[in-house]
Amino acid sequence: MVDTLKKIVGEDSVLSDGKEKSRFDHIWKTDIPTNALAVVFPKDTDELSSIMKVCFENNQKILVQGGLTNLVGSTKTFKDEIIVSLDRMNKIEEIDEKSRTITLQSGVIVEDAINAVNEKDLLLPLNFGAKGSAQIGGVVSTNAGGLRVLKYGMTRGLVLGLEAVLSNGEIISSMKKVIKDNSGYDLKQIFIGSEGTLGIITKVILKLEEKPESRCSALVALKNYDNVVNLLKFIEKGLSGTLTGFELMWNNTYKTMRDSSENYSPLLPSIHPFYVFIESLGSDLNSDFDKLSELISKAAEKNLIEDAILAQNEREQKIIWDMREDVSVLAKKSKFDQHFDISLPIPIIDNEVQVATKKLKKLSFVEHVFTFGHVADGNIHFIIGKNDNSTKNTEKINQIIYSKLKENGGSVSAEHGIGLDKKKYLYTSRSKEEINLMKTLKKILDPKNILNPGRVIPD
Ligand SMILES: Cc1cc2nc3c(=O)[nH]c(=O)nc-3n(C[C@H](O)[C@H](O)[C@H](O)COP(=O)(O)OP(=O)(O)OC[C@H]3O[C@@H](n4cnc5c(N)ncnc54)[C@H](O)[C@@H]3O)c2cc1C
Repeated sequence: MVDTLKKIVGEDSVLSDGKEKSRFDHIWKTDIPTNALAVVFPKDTDELSSIMKVCFENNQKILVQGGLTNLVGSTKTFKDEIIVSLDRMNKIEEIDEKSRTITLQSGVIVEDAINAVNEKDLLLPLNFGAKGSAQIGGVVSTNAGGLRVLKYGMTRGLVLGLEAVLSNGEIISSMKKVIKDNSGYDLKQIFIGSEGTLGIITKVILKLEEKPESRCSALVALKNYDNVVNLLKFIEKGLSGTLTGFELMWNNTYKTMRDSSENYSPLLPSIHPFYVFIESLGSDLNSDFDKLSELISKAAEKNLIEDAILAQNEREQKIIWDMREDVSVLAKKSKFDQHFDISLPIPIIDNEVQVATKKLKKLSFVEHVFTFGHVADGNIHFIIGKNDNSTKNTEKINQIIYSKLKENGGSVSAEHGIGLDKKKYLYTSRSKEEINLMKTLKKILDPKNILNPGRVIPD
């Protein structure tokens, strides 16, 4: 297979040497080595189509890799797989200022797209901690969320056009710039969020927004969770449409982050039970700043908040948001970590976090329980530090976090996806009938089960 692929794409577009391949180790856990036969780098959609035709004929299993930042083990590799890396399909093809769209090949790094759009005075509202490494194809195929879902929605909501290669090499292309298109089934949705199990995304057209003229940020401290929920309603109503971020950290997470860097020490002291990071994007810096400032004063008068900082300039905004984004610090506190990305109805989040934390702390191998997340989207992350990584103990933690999801109407994955790590628990968020329909779709689009096999759908 490796020789055949070299004939299609050229010698320098296939890596099969052990050392070279090692840079395709999983980024988040660099100790997980690349086991695949080879890494192949198509340069365009036609080349990828030829690769897939050969793989289809030969029942060759394929693992698609983007920026390798997923947190669900999707890009761990096996000896019988060949990696298709989108690294070289990394062109920004067009920014259409009048249609407010950007056309991107899948391998473009998210931050590069954000910066290019910014130069045109427009906004690509994607924003999350891994934006400097994650690729557009990875982001679309995982339907990534992040820090601005509250206002702009998940990635799915940004995708107007999409091109993908199926397992048999067929190219499905709907590269339209229009928002409205009800001509039959919206087929692009099949590829968004299906984590590369139904097709390889090669290009997308994303919707852009007008660039806001102002950005204001604040960090506030609160004494209880009821106040967090009430503050969300209060600020959202008061800002009438300009609230773009409302992120929560529980005390021990905040304390650990604050202690991790001198940059964060001028921020609020770590003596309060809850901290909320607020962002608003608007049209006039002075009046938007005054508006947020006034709302925060009123929130204090209503005893909703205990303390607050409003960023006075871009440097201060960066410090506040760096603290929220650089959560990899938390994972490094222990030898091993397990992270979770669950959804729950907003009012019950803190209660469920307290119950789970109590149970987790009783486990002798658990060293840290860090909780934070996109609370306005009902999405909470746990990073659990532990000194033992055995399957038995990993399962004990999974049981604690997942056991009440079904009863509470939550989701095992709010935004990170299912990959390999969570497929066993898909049933906590999906019915038997839904999982069967997923299996049927997979069989139709990938009848030989060669595309990202074993990921997402339970055996
Ligand atoms: C510090 C940090 C913070 C993060 N914060 C967030 C967050 O706030 N919100 C969030 O949603 N996620 C977050 N993530 C998770 C991750 O960044 C996203 O899931 C991201 O979308 C993955 O993109 P990637 O290019 O790295 O994809 P990869 O990790 O390479 O791949 C992810 C999956 O997509 C498939 N895939 C990749 N490219 C393609 C393609 N072109 N066509 C088809 N399938 C493809 C892969 O096979 C795999 O199944 C975070 C991760 C880190 C490390």
